[in-house]
Amino acid sequence: MLKRLDEQVKKDFKEYFKDRDYGVIAVTEEDAIRVFAIRTTNLTEIARLKHGLFPLSAVVLGRTMAGVILLTTLIKHGTDQRILLRIEGDGPAGLVVAEVNGKGEVRGFIQNKHIETATKDVNGKKKFDVRSAVGKGTLTVIKDLGLKTPYESSVPLISGEIAEDIAYYLLKSEQIPSAVSLGVLIGEDGKVKAAGGFIVQPLPGAKEESIAKIEKTVKNLPPVTEMLTSDKRPEDIVEEVLKGFGVNVLALKELSFRCRCSKETAMQSLLMLPVEELEKLIEEGGAEITCNFCSTVYYFTPEEIKNVIKLKETGDN
Ligand SMILES: [Zn+2]
Repeated sequence: MLKRLDEQVKKDFKEYFKDRDYGVIAVTEEDAIRVFAIRTTNLTEIARLKHGLFPLSAVVLGRTMAGVILLTTLIKHGTDQRILLRIEGDGPAGLVVAEVNGKGEVRGFIQNKHIETATKDVNGKKKFDVRSAVGKGTLTVIKDLGLKTPYESSVPLISGEIAEDIAYYLLKSEQIPSAVSLGVLIGEDGKVKAAGGFIVQPLPGAKEESIAKIEKTVKNLPPVTEMLTSDKRPEDIVEEVLKGFGVNVLALKELSFRCRCSKETAMQSLLMLPVEELEKLIEEGGAEITCNFCSTVYYFTPEEIKNVIKLKETGDN
């Protein structure tokens, strides 16, 4: 569905998506440079609320979730193929994980939900110090394309700001040179005010001079959160990035926070416990299993735990 990005198309997008999260994938008319721009404000706020995150924790997880969404150009659109981004640094954030499928359903968690706020001065403005919160360590991407074994690849964290680290991964592991920008802005009230990002990738056949031109544009762009708070939408960001080029829209992606967990999957974790432990839980009056990815709590009565033991004993699992 190659569609020229003009005023009518922009009006249609605005009406269709309103305040919902979504992304726009577009290419230059020469079909050689691709941009994927996303707005993830709502899904980041939902993650913040579900997990009860402090501001800096919300920023780190928000960037990770937006980052994994930008990686969906590596999987098939609209499918159950999945991509998972794992950031393991030695900073206070601890383990940070986000996962998305081809339908734009994302979920994620951060080990330290309550990182103490640390800021640094950037051009006279106070910014959250994401780099110190993440620290040094590794970035791992796991692609589950529905084949026998998922594809997994790791690179060292070179920055800790997450966007640069994703660009480094794409270059090293996928041989795709990319420019990545991510941002999460927390308001005075502690709520997520804006979140999103974009990725630019030259496709085979891109002209050197076009790449250089876009690189220069990207360097001079305001931060992505500033663009989103000044009412710019993903399609506007695409236009800003590709200023001076004709732009065609390739695809739209609706984005949402959605976890795959259920009482069924929670029961799977009970099934993995030894019988003695399950008997202890029965004595204690039941068990609570919390999903890492969305903090939903599943309650199991002693009666239900007895059934789990039965299942274990019949080996019917
Ligand atoms: Zn869940």
